[in-house]
Amino acid sequence: MRLKRQTVLLTGATGAIGQAIARELASDGARVVLQFRSDASKAGALAKELGHGAMALPADLSDPASPTALWQAAEDAAGRIDTLINNAGILTPSSVDQSLEDWHRVWHGDLQVNLMAAADLCRAAVRHFLGRGGGRIVNIASRAAQGGYRAEAMSYGATKAALVNLTQSIARGFGPSGVTAVAIAPGWVKTEMSDAYVREHGAAAALSGIPVGRMATPEEIAELVAFVLRPSQTSLSGAVLDVNGASQMR
Ligand code: NAD
Repeated sequence: MRLKRQTVLLTGATGAIGQAIARELASDGARVVLQFRSDASKAGALAKELGHGAMALPADLSDPASPTALWQAAEDAAGRIDTLINNAGILTPSSVDQSLEDWHRVWHGDLQVNLMAAADLCRAAVRHFLGRGGGRIVNIASRAAQGGYRAEAMSYGATKAALVNLTQSIARGFGPSGVTAVAIAPGWVKTEMSDAYVREHGAAAALSGIPVGRMATPEEIAELVAFVLRPSQTSLSGAVLDVNGASQMR
């Protein structure tokens, strides 16, 4: 019960990785505020399963006003918030052969959900934390953040790289005020996102280049988030934690 009496706002909570994080943190005693986009019944059922005062709040993070409204709603409902986890994310394929209009639509969409929503929530979180002796931020980035990414998913890679840099800036800038920030950078995780790639390109293509021979599970990511949030883990601030089966090393 390392996270007893801690309140965590978790975005993308009904996704594969989000659900695993929510379960892991609740098993450590945290009260988890679950953000969902449209699946109210799934989010409500998850909140009920988690206990510890878990609750579900709706937000469509593609709307630029919604991240700040989400934070406010979470604060109104929960009072103090100790931790923000930016986990919601999208990968929208694009092509240099698309019209400029379509290309811009994809880029703006990925930028809004993967970066701007996270940045707005980080802004709100830091402002909240500063008056309360500090707080914690975990941003779920990706292996795609480092070393470039697939030609049809360049916007995804670029937004995740920016998310890593944002995390490090927060760690650097607000560490003296008790705010810690860590980025987690998974390679392939066995979820709907990776299943879609496997359906299109085959399992061999997905697994080639992963020396451990398998994708990470959502539970592995969740365990790491719980470790990062242990009260003892302060010096991890600013870290980018790779979880990619040795497929990419710095
Ligand atoms: P997922 O598609 O199962 O979950 C994504 C979550 O984001 C969902 O809960 C979805 O509702 C939410 N979301 C998407 N668009 C939203 C919007 N407009 N407003 C509000 N919420 C929105 O994917 P996942 O695999 O669980 O991914 C979780 C995180 O992990 C993402 O940030 C993703 O980029 C990252 N990641 C995933 C993998 C992988 O292989 N699955 C690898 C590296 C990083």
